Amino acid sequence: MQCTKCKKEAVINLRYNGLNLCNACFVEYFEKRARATIRNFNMLNIGDKIAVGLSGGKDSSSLLYFLKNFSEKRRTKILAMTIDVGINDEYGSSTLNNTKEVCQKLGIEHHIYSFKDEIGMTIDEIHLKICNNKFGGSEGLCTYCGVLRRDIMNKKAKELGCSKLAIAHNLEDEDQAFLMNIVRGDIERIIWGSSLIKDAKMIPRIKPFIKSPEDEVKFYAKINFPELNFEHICPYRKDAYRKTFKDILNLLNEKYPGSNFQIFESNNKLKNLLLKDYKIKGVHFCKTCGNLCSGEICKRCELLKNLNLI
Ligand SMILES: [Zn+2]
Ligand SMILES: [Zn+2]
Repeated sequence: MQCTKCKKEAVINLRYNGLNLCNACFVEYFEKRARATIRNFNMLNIGDKIAVGLSGGKDSSSLLYFLKNFSEKRRTKILAMTIDVGINDEYGSSTLNNTKEVCQKLGIEHHIYSFKDEIGMTIDEIHLKICNNKFGGSEGLCTYCGVLRRDIMNKKAKELGCSKLAIAHNLEDEDQAFLMNIVRGDIERIIWGSSLIKDAKMIPRIKPFIKSPEDEVKFYAKINFPELNFEHICPYRKDAYRKTFKDILNLLNEKYPGSNFQIFESNNKLKNLLLKDYKIKGVHFCKTCGNLCSGEICKRCELLKNLNLI
């Protein structure tokens, strides 16, 4: 297999457009798309200070690598932020270790905050607690982890004077969330979660990899961090509902390459239409913390109340 661009030995084939690429041409192709995504969605301005959420997985390590090179050529500053949620096993220690190695290798300022210090409980402790009460098994745990992590990152990024928070969502993450909202009939959430709604208390979140397929992000991670292990899987990752959507998307892509990009475009078109025509109902401010939310109290406060932490 020959590289379509330079005729060297190709190492990857992109089924949706027929390109065969060597390492160097793949990196160029991958980064060009991420740069275009930043430009097309107006994600960054000169002088921005970016906090990059770094979990130690393939996606966030790749994002930090890309944004470091990107910001060196522009007048933006960058730092990495890790939330140690407190998973006491091989996965927990290896991902945390990855974050340290990545930052050391790239020479990036690194801030680590823990669930234990910030909210008083590790995710292991939250797991024990929600398994023993009405909230059931570990299915809801990803919500606790995601919502509380996001809240701490927002607060800390603000304290550090950052103007943007970069999140390593890839194309499939975005498609999956979109399809889930469609199936639930939750049309508000299609625009709700997007950065299109301005909230003064939230630092704008940017996602430079939303047009990058997961397997390409993985390939990019392997090229740039060959020494790191990204294979560990979170022990709590048992969300069958989410997994079903992931499987459906994979099946679609296998049969009809490029479906992931088409779903993304539909999502975008719908977002823009909804913003024009749809009056967002029920924008409130949380009674407890003042965050923008859709009900009486925000999700963060609801979860912390469940845990008797506020
Ligand atoms: Zn090439
Ligand atoms: Zn709240």
